[in-house]
Amino acid sequence: MKKPNIIWLNVAIFLITFLVAAVAVPYRALTHGFDNTEITFALFCFIYCGMSITAGYHRLWSHKTYQAHWSLRFIFALGGAFALQNSIQHWSSDHRIHHKHVDNNDIDPYSAKMGFWYSHIGWMCREYQAHRYHDYKNVRDLQKDAIVVWQHKHYLWLALLMNIGIPVLFGLWHGNLINSLLLVGFFRLVMSHHTTFFINSLAHMWGKQTYTDKNTARDNGYLAYLTFGEGYHNFHHIFENDYRNGIRWWHFDPTKWLIKSCQWLGLTKNLRVSPEDKVEKMRIEMTLKKAKAKLVSQPNAEQTLIYLQQEYELLINKINAYYIIRKKVLHEKHDHLLAEVENSDLMVQYKELKCRLIEQRRSWQLLTEKLG
Ligand SMILES: [Zn+2]
Ligand SMILES: [Zn+2]
Repeated sequence: MKKPNIIWLNVAIFLITFLVAAVAVPYRALTHGFDNTEITFALFCFIYCGMSITAGYHRLWSHKTYQAHWSLRFIFALGGAFALQNSIQHWSSDHRIHHKHVDNNDIDPYSAKMGFWYSHIGWMCREYQAHRYHDYKNVRDLQKDAIVVWQHKHYLWLALLMNIGIPVLFGLWHGNLINSLLLVGFFRLVMSHHTTFFINSLAHMWGKQTYTDKNTARDNGYLAYLTFGEGYHNFHHIFENDYRNGIRWWHFDPTKWLIKSCQWLGLTKNLRVSPEDKVEKMRIEMTLKKAKAKLVSQPNAEQTLIYLQQEYELLINKINAYYIIRKKVLHEKHDHLLAEVENSDLMVQYKELKCRLIEQRRSWQLLTEKLG
């Protein structure tokens, strides 16, 4: 079958920016050097671009995991144009299709099953999506956002203004235009491009399938460092309405911290989180599936299999019982005085169920760890 036509503009942008970043920037660093102000500003711009994509394009607009004040949306819209990843409307449309038809080579725009190169950058180099390039049916909700509409309409000028204007202004102000164009212009853009592209490529190939193995998405703590917290991609593909990707407090997810901090400043609200019990049950189910798959290949494992299933059911029952009573306690705390609730029978029951659940979790962990 004939391959779709090459999109020369995209290829030229990727190639030229990459060559300048890989050859001219190191050469300039060796022969001329970059000072701390230039490096700090380039780093700031890199973070601004990355977070505009992760917090803005991805978690705000594509998935609507929270609501944001217009000023923040405006900042993200400019940052997205600076990151040169097409308009919010286009990006979100692609991304919603990616979630809905993940790994379907015919529909998923950056299906990881097409391989690393395709899902990383190849999908943007040929007219694979030409048939639906202007089809924005799945983002009609976003067309009510004046900032999204404005950014889409003026995308080209905004992208040029941000990508040329900022490095030029900074260079003139700081007194070294070439250094600024190389570092803030080219190097920042290439770093920003490829770290975001890793979410479509590496985050679907390298890491653990903690919650599901029905798609290729992976959880990867290392990748989270390169992608502003988007490395917990297996979780994200299951719980896409959650404003977090790394759900534990120690999970490196600066995008989550930014959204949360903005809530304290009154810039974001209605942050959505997935029900804890649902998350825990999905994880346990996956552990059970993996343990079973290991056991069936071993001889005389029938007894262990039965025991594993029993322990699983006990754990699920205890989770259900605990979360029901926890909900009641929270209601009571809302309606009554704290001291009254603390001394109630309900509280005694609650503490007991909590202890039992902790014990059961521990024994489940030991058992599944032993099974490898
Ligand atoms: Zn997503
Ligand atoms: Zn994905």
